[in-house]
Amino acid sequence: MTSRVCNSCARARWAWVAAAITVGVALAFAGCADDAAGPAAPADLVLRGGVVATVDADNTMAEAVAITDGWIVAVGSDELVAEFIGAETEVIELGGRFAGPGFIEGHGHYMSLGNSKTILDLNDAPNWDAIVAMVAEAVADAEPGEWIRGRGWHQEKWDRPPEPVVEGNPTHGTLTAASPENPVLLGHASGHAAFANALALERGGYTRDSEPPPGGELVRDENGELTGLLRETAQGPVSAAFADSQLGRSPEEIEAQFRREVMLAAEEALSKGVTSFQDAGTGFGTIDRLKELEAEGALPVRLYIMVRRQSNEEMDARLPDYYMPSEGDDYLTVRSIKRQIDGALGSHGAWLLEPYEDMPESVGLVLETVEDITGTAHVAIKHGFQVNTHAIGDRANREVLDIYEAVFDSAGAGDDLRWRIEHAQHVHPDDIARFAQLGVLASMQGVHATSDAPWIPLRLGDDRARERTYLWRSFMDAGVPINNGTDVPVEDIDPLASFHSSVTRLTVDGSIFYPEQNMSRIEALRSYTINNAYAAFEEEFKGSLEVGKLGDVVVIDRDILTVPDGELADARVDLTIVGGVVRYER
Ligand SMILES: [Zn+2]
Repeated sequence: MTSRVCNSCARARWAWVAAAITVGVALAFAGCADDAAGPAAPADLVLRGGVVATVDADNTMAEAVAITDGWIVAVGSDELVAEFIGAETEVIELGGRFAGPGFIEGHGHYMSLGNSKTILDLNDAPNWDAIVAMVAEAVADAEPGEWIRGRGWHQEKWDRPPEPVVEGNPTHGTLTAASPENPVLLGHASGHAAFANALALERGGYTRDSEPPPGGELVRDENGELTGLLRETAQGPVSAAFADSQLGRSPEEIEAQFRREVMLAAEEALSKGVTSFQDAGTGFGTIDRLKELEAEGALPVRLYIMVRRQSNEEMDARLPDYYMPSEGDDYLTVRSIKRQIDGALGSHGAWLLEPYEDMPESVGLVLETVEDITGTAHVAIKHGFQVNTHAIGDRANREVLDIYEAVFDSAGAGDDLRWRIEHAQHVHPDDIARFAQLGVLASMQGVHATSDAPWIPLRLGDDRARERTYLWRSFMDAGVPINNGTDVPVEDIDPLASFHSSVTRLTVDGSIFYPEQNMSRIEALRSYTINNAYAAFEEEFKGSLEVGKLGDVVVIDRDILTVPDGELADARVDLTIVGGVVRYER
């Protein structure tokens, strides 16, 4: 094992780290192992006796890590790190457990995660009747007129179909009967559809004769009655009615709710080993509130926020005020924009090159136009922002590559763009090489592959499913780094579940979804750490356990790089450490 301290590389890095951090680390460095000045200064925290995956360029394994003032000052053998243990040093005995860089959620929705903890969680509901029963229980506790909200239902996960059924989904009859005086709005797990009862439809201004807004669909039964299922933008009027109902709240109530949701999201992230979170889309107003929390030191997880839901004109005017690149030990970074060209495959919203196998009249939905996203791309180049565009279907991916390619010429020579496609789920093999040529990153979610596996062949047919979906191996072979995540709250934020999906592609029914595209263990670990750091321009600060990087560490009860596949699903996070501070302990 090689010494990980005081090599010339670490010293070079130290030169600029020193500008950002405190004198305490400088002392540790001044006295480190191969320095003539003597023994190392004691660290604040030492973890030893473990299986430590550094995820450095050589995937070096180590036994121990020392952290001072939030930064890693030594990584290596127990013997080497012993020099950093003083009377005041907190020592955590790993006892053979695994330690690695804190997980970085590559694409999630931070405030939605917090909010999802305050409304009905329908993820594990076994069927529609169970959901109606949960709503009935909530109604019993609510005042008449108060909104009942939930999210996470997915008709393909139910143990039996609803009765009556329209396009695989329920109709609102039983829901309306259970909640005649409270509007009910239940978000689909994908976020691309919602289900409303009669009163919520009425509050949204929908009648039997309504037309949906552009890009949306109102599902009807055979008599032309609204079933209550609102696809894509058809959710808008009902969501707006809910938002209107919230206008009466006082500023104090709003602020208290906001803080509660920030903390609930952090609690959930930390309990799963997530130390940094890339948020796929938040408006300026919420960013302002998060800035205040960061200034107070009240953000427990490091956030990388993509700007969302602002017009191109507004972004052109205001982006310079919001440019907050990572300075290392910070909790709020803003330097990217989120756009969304299409919907999701499950709800037939992904924009495809050829029609759906099970809906031959449709090639999916365009949610935000090519022209509008092209406008965003120019604004982003002008202000030095990264663009991260949601694209799920193969046509959507091709269109986004075209947009990126067309505007890259207007970037300055040497600009480090690292633009991303979020999801990149269904990609024509011809387009893989274009990701590599353009330097576009594939921000994918391992767990989506196994969740979606049961219905992908239904939507696309077997050939397209095999040749065009979740092409991790093809991307990596082409030199395109994969970023991993969960799209929480679409999925549970658990990185270990997504890691498991990434390396096994094992679905709930026990089948394996085209295993030729699997990642190896170390590839999956890199996809969740250093690759995500790179995708946020933060690889100098995080994503690996190396001297001069942040002391963000996850401790897991077993070695996820070597345990048999069958034991991987039982792996649990024991400790989550952010900036050298234990923020979660199982
Ligand atoms: Zn998302």
